[in-house]
Amino acid sequence: CAKIRGKDRHQFYSDHMSKSVYEEIDMSHKIRTAINANIFEMHYQPIVSTKPGTLVGLEALIRWKDHEEGYIPPARFIPIAEKTGQMKSIEKLVIDSVFLQVKQWIDKKDAPLFVSINLSPEGLVQQHIIPFLEDMKEKYQFPPEKIQFEITETAMIRNEIYVLQTLNCIKQMGFRISLDDFGTGYSSINYLRVLPIDKVKLDKSFLLSIENDPKNQEIVETVIDLCHKLKLEVIAEGVETESQRAYLIDIGCDYIQGYLFSKPLNSEEISKWIAETYFK
Ligand code: C2E
Ligand code: MG
Ligand code: MG
Ligand code: MG
Repeated sequence: CAKIRGKDRHQFYSDHMSKSVYEEIDMSHKIRTAINANIFEMHYQPIVSTKPGTLVGLEALIRWKDHEEGYIPPARFIPIAEKTGQMKSIEKLVIDSVFLQVKQWIDKKDAPLFVSINLSPEGLVQQHIIPFLEDMKEKYQFPPEKIQFEITETAMIRNEIYVLQTLNCIKQMGFRISLDDFGTGYSSINYLRVLPIDKVKLDKSFLLSIENDPKNQEIVETVIDLCHKLKLEVIAEGVETESQRAYLIDIGCDYIQGYLFSKPLNSEEISKWIAETYFK
């Protein structure tokens, strides 16, 4: 029945709208169903310190396996969820699920120092995230510094004053904040000064040519120095090779994350990975 209706819809819209509009409408229906059934799953990717090489944190990344289409990457559905006002619901599911997981790891004395959660700009602008985070703190009762929120500069472009208020509030609640994808987009150095952040995540695009592009090396080294002078720690993301790791250690980057260590894994797999990697 759904299939037939789906076909009808296709025929109806194809005369009037472009294919991409139809696809967006279709995707937003799919997202609604996925939210209602809560079928999203969180995967976790290790963040490792460069000095002793120990695990310091995990980044939580949303995964969606649709029963018809299979894996649908976040880059495909998050922009549509944002556009159609569905991101608020997704974000709540994500945060609740990660807090529950962290609570379970803490209870088993198995928790890394922190777990990162990506925040989309929408929640920061609308500020509905604050009362929700108060509820989460109350519900799960663990030290807030276990959670680090990752934000991007795009949030600031939308409504600087509101976003700054929200971030200061999040910080006052005891959570940590990092600036994700630094070096892409507008990358205002001023954000490093005004945002209440603890860490900066260097975008993975820097690493693509890190070994044979001297200009790129100068930029990366200068950004790391600048961050350190501002008392910010630096995470390099997208580290895939041993020589990238060696270079990043050499120039004093604090933490690294990437396929070199592990791709994002579900909670059971990541617990197993941690046990095998660090407690053999
Ligand atoms: P991001 O926060 O910058 O996350 C890093 C992305 O790089 C992830 O892609 C991760 O799987 C990928 N990655 C990690 N290591 C490597 C590597 O060594 N090489 C390469 N080429 N890629 C690597 P993913 O999971 O597809 O997520 C894409 C983006 O979607 C994220 O970028 C983030 O902006 C957003 N996102 C993912 N999960 C969530 C979520 O739960 N909430 C929100 N609001 N956004 C999310
Ligand atoms: Mg991130
Ligand atoms: Mg990133
Ligand atoms: Mg990104």
